[in-house]
Amino acid sequence: MSEEDVYRVAREKMVETQIKARGISDSRVIQAMLKVPRHLFVEEALKDQAYGDFPLPIGEGQTISQPYIVALMTEALELKGNERVLEIGTGSGYQTAILAELSTWVYTIEKYSSLLERAKKVLNKLGYRNISFRLGDGSYGWKEASPFQAIIVTAAAPDIPLPLKEQLDEGGRIIIPVGDPFSQVLIKGVKRGGEVHTKILEYVRFVKLVGEYGFKD
Ligand code: SAH
Repeated sequence: MSEEDVYRVAREKMVETQIKARGISDSRVIQAMLKVPRHLFVEEALKDQAYGDFPLPIGEGQTISQPYIVALMTEALELKGNERVLEIGTGSGYQTAILAELSTWVYTIEKYSSLLERAKKVLNKLGYRNISFRLGDGSYGWKEASPFQAIIVTAAAPDIPLPLKEQLDEGGRIIIPVGDPFSQVLIKGVKRGGEVHTKILEYVRFVKLVGEYGFKD
């Protein structure tokens, strides 16, 4: 078996045991998780662990999310293929690739230039051409590109940042972990009549969203 075959088999197993077995059923999400080579988004020494049922370090004290959490958050965005999506916390770029597979355009913002540059490089190499990148504090959102039909925040905030509520389109979905720095609930908000209505999806632990509308340190 070639190296790529070994990773493809690992990916298929990941999807069966971690994604489908836990109730993810959106076939487009499943196809994307089968396609995107997650091992290319982690550092060389961690490649063999890339399909494991856990997050992994990516540098700067940050982590690539566990595969199941990526699938859960993506499914909750209800992407049909014609959305403009805002992602806060590019990190490794893995979630970005999944979103790029499932929507028209992804706008992604990362605080650390080292992470952003690495993610850009991998995503370019894989041929994604429907992603705009920005370095900075994503808690302000990306006003010029709004409104977004879907917003995903992959770092924990004390509350839903106000600019993100404003930049969400009518009928749009936002998925964000909200709580204190040590434990959070994953929230799904849907904008109806100008108001964001929320429900809890899962108990989670993410790294902090550090910024004006996140945690201040
Ligand atoms: N989706 C990424 C998750 C990375 S962890 C992945 O699976 O690889 C969360 C990311 O959010 C980190 O890269 C961190 O640097 C970034 N982050 C934290 N605060 C931020 C902010 N205010 N604006 C943009 N990115 C931020």
